[in-house]
Amino acid sequence: MSKLSEYWDAVYSCMGCGDCGYAIHSAIGKFKSCPIKEVHESPFEVYFARGKMRLAKGILDGRLPLSKELAEIIYQCTECGACHDTCHQTHNPNINLFVTRWIDHVEVWEALRQDLVKEGFAPLDQHARILKSMNDQSRLNPYERELSEKKEAISNLSGFVAEGTSEIGFFAGCTQSLMYSETLQKLGKIIEKSGIKVCKLPNEYCCGSIALRIGDMETATHLMEQNIKYFQDLGIKRIITACAGCYRTLKKDYPKYSDKELPEIINITEFLEELIENQKIQFNSSEPISVTYHDPCHLGRHMEIYDPPRNVIKAVPGVSLIEMKRNRNNAWCCGAGGGLKSQFPEMAVDIAKDRISEAIETQSSLLVTSCPFCERNLTDAISQDAEIKVIDIIDFIYSRI
Ligand code: SF4
Ligand code: SF4
Repeated sequence: MSKLSEYWDAVYSCMGCGDCGYAIHSAIGKFKSCPIKEVHESPFEVYFARGKMRLAKGILDGRLPLSKELAEIIYQCTECGACHDTCHQTHNPNINLFVTRWIDHVEVWEALRQDLVKEGFAPLDQHARILKSMNDQSRLNPYERELSEKKEAISNLSGFVAEGTSEIGFFAGCTQSLMYSETLQKLGKIIEKSGIKVCKLPNEYCCGSIALRIGDMETATHLMEQNIKYFQDLGIKRIITACAGCYRTLKKDYPKYSDKELPEIINITEFLEELIENQKIQFNSSEPISVTYHDPCHLGRHMEIYDPPRNVIKAVPGVSLIEMKRNRNNAWCCGAGGGLKSQFPEMAVDIAKDRISEAIETQSSLLVTSCPFCERNLTDAISQDAEIKVIDIIDFIYSRI
């Protein structure tokens, strides 16, 4: 049985209204929903949710076979969930026709991706390269970097206690440990000052997020099992992570695929909020500054973490938080998610450019976010002479203590 067939109700709940592609966002007077449709050079139906749902109906009816060409279309999606947020079939409790069920669009896209991988029409070439690296025992990360580099980066973090000496663990993730280790060093200093003992997890595996988004369940399941065993062996009760992708995966996906007891999963913005509430962060600077905040899709729409980052930013003396026109569940995707950045990098940056323009309109000096993928893609989209800088929330807090 195909994975997609488990979502028959959801797929057939799509009424074809087109709001997921054509709803106008009144704040900006632009189409609201799908970042792919907005940047695609040929924005046909299949490049936003209504068309993808029609394709899914064709597959379920046996009229459309899976194919490589279909895979090329299905992977042109950041899995940002904006269609899910726009669709009345997701939100309107009064619509309950007999074929109607709530649609979780991202789950449908992921089911379809799993079927494409299972039938050999995916992964696409760049995704295949990434998965190869994730399965290579000397790497086990998506970046074709040696596993020893990641272990070393985590082992060298100061401010955290040694593995196994606290029930609170810090899950660094591949992206931050390999690309943003300076940010993690700063986090270590914030944690050290707070007096809270958080242990490093140098033997953590990749969380598996990228494999899940691509639809390679074999790779994802293996990584998930290894991590769960590692947490259990160490007696970890609480995990903090500063990567939005790891957070979504550990908190939302792990319980779907494992019946084992899992630690409590906390996002860094929730943890920083806790530290501030308990007066465990003392700010040293109150220099006036205007900042705006970009909601990563994996934190916002996927996990509804909207207030913690804002509360953290607003708690910093001297800071004015100026919202972009599209914010919280209406936030425009940065363009990096769902494997788009690796397979369709130009499209990913085009999406980010739109977000940067919106951030510039706020006249803020900083565009704060809390996701290494967003940070990277937004930075790739910013022009060198721009007056706004992209910064992770950890770096921002560190700059003010
Ligand atoms: S997915 Fe939802 S918003 Fe999009 S066409 Fe279908 S019913 Fe309408
Ligand atoms: S998840 Fe995002 S990119 Fe994908 S179809 Fe929906 S709105 Fe478009």
